[in-house]
Amino acid sequence: MTDWKTRTKLVHTGARRSQYGEMSEAIFLTQGFVYDTAEQAEARFIKTGEDEFIYARYGNPTVRMFEDRIAAIEGTEDAFATASGMAAVNAALTSLVKAGDHVVAARALFGSCLYILEILGRFGVEVTLVDGTDLSQWEGAVREDTKAVFLESVSNPTLEVIDLKSVSAIAHAKGALVIVDNVFATPTFSRAVELGADVVVYSATKHIDGSGRCLGGVICGTTDYIRKVVEPYLKHTGGAMSPFNAWVMLKGMETLDLRVRAQAANAQGVAEALEGHPAVSQVLYPGLKSHAQHALAMEQMGAGGTVVSFDLKGGKDAAFRFLNALEIVKISNNLGDAKSIITHPATTTHQRLPEDQKALLGITPGLVRLSLGIEDLEDILADIRGALSVI
Ligand SMILES: *Cc1c(COP(=O)(O)O)cnc(C)c1O
Repeated sequence: MTDWKTRTKLVHTGARRSQYGEMSEAIFLTQGFVYDTAEQAEARFIKTGEDEFIYARYGNPTVRMFEDRIAAIEGTEDAFATASGMAAVNAALTSLVKAGDHVVAARALFGSCLYILEILGRFGVEVTLVDGTDLSQWEGAVREDTKAVFLESVSNPTLEVIDLKSVSAIAHAKGALVIVDNVFATPTFSRAVELGADVVVYSATKHIDGSGRCLGGVICGTTDYIRKVVEPYLKHTGGAMSPFNAWVMLKGMETLDLRVRAQAANAQGVAEALEGHPAVSQVLYPGLKSHAQHALAMEQMGAGGTVVSFDLKGGKDAAFRFLNALEIVKISNNLGDAKSIITHPATTTHQRLPEDQKALLGITPGLVRLSLGIEDLEDILADIRGALSVI
């Protein structure tokens, strides 16, 4: 099974069949489990064995299938599924640290990830933020008492790529755990563990579901970290994934590789078409040679990913006119969907950031973030060209 290639694992790994031999993985929509005897219940509370469950907050057969499948794809020993991506980021960090510990994080983070770091600060964890693309800042910030470093391997929305191999080496030299939010890299293009990450976190809401249905998240790591650090925390604080959502994610994974590769090809095509367009001042896409970390992105992911960000010359007015003129591409703040989605970060996802923070992170009034779907590239390009001609 470990010799299987990714596409085979995505379809088969982790499947557990009941006595009925169902083809499609079953949804075990149950909170609890019935024991034959009181002795069996007692034994299970001492130690659960394979295919033995106690309560859905601790684990569930459908959820376990999803966890086993994503761990196999990511190349980690184990995984724990959560109710959302944020539940995963929160548990990955909070389960690990205590007052007095130190955490270093890249400053270009999803707003809710920054909020979690603020909460840690409230409870006495010292947090240092660095420019994730500047290795000397990581060198300077990571100390002997640094418990973890946290980063998004490709940042949102400006698509900066962080050098996982170098940051991991810096962190490991001081004994810190490397926790990577890998949503933008996607499981398809991820080599995070191979490059040194200890823990990989996904919002399954994005590419793993892929059709905009359910929230979900997952933490991938060693058996020791997942079972001794993460599981006790999640089991008692209640961030478990619903069995129904786990089933949706399992179905999503079957087509994950096909979708993500098609989305990345569309993203590359759109990025190339936009570069040099008179209405566009800058295109940010790791798959373009003009991207500051193009070589690193190719080495780390082998592709530019499924999201393209670009700056429109006319600022917010131009951005709004462009968004409003699109027909196929939908205005929304999600990403990773089979449908192409466009976002204006300055007024939505990053609205709450103070202006100087926005400027520091490159979130200009004209910046738009386009998450490519699996539609035909010609149609997407025609839609984008048509909308650009309006502004
Ligand atoms: C969406 C997202 C999250 C949060 O995931 P939810 O499933 O919405 O909770 C965290 N990190 C990144 C990079 C994301 O894009």
